[in-house]
Amino acid sequence: MRIKKVNRYWCDFCNLGMLSAGGMRNHEKHCTKNPDRACKVCSLICGYTVPMNELIAILPSSAAYHADYANNDLYRKLYVETEEAMPKLREATDNCPACIMAALRQANIPVPMVESFNFTTEMKTIFKEVAEEARSWRGG
Ligand SMILES: [Zn+2]
Ligand SMILES: [Zn+2]
Repeated sequence: MRIKKVNRYWCDFCNLGMLSAGGMRNHEKHCTKNPDRACKVCSLICGYTVPMNELIAILPSSAAYHADYANNDLYRKLYVETEEAMPKLREATDNCPACIMAALRQANIPVPMVESFNFTTEMKTIFKEVAEEARSWRGG
């Protein structure tokens, strides 16, 4: 019988686990739950990540909602206030889907609640734009 013990690494900020320390270091740096994260998407576009506390300050407090999930009025209130804050959040993040997602997660606002935001679609758009821009630098 052969036994191999391996180390398993867990992210300090979310529930992700993996077997590679280097991979985990890289994940933690960009993890959307990390208050001090460096945004991978922003680094692709302009290299600057807006500090997370500035983004969270734009969003409404979700504390009342989390204290009473069964209360529909509190759900509606958070829903309306978050949608009202979305244009500001988009402006502050320069429409970066990863930063928007990270801000919502760290403000404890359920991402599916925000109907005006679709992470997958918006990421696809960004990557398409980046690819087109790269093509234009090469001259077609
Ligand atoms: Zn993580
Ligand atoms: Zn970003």
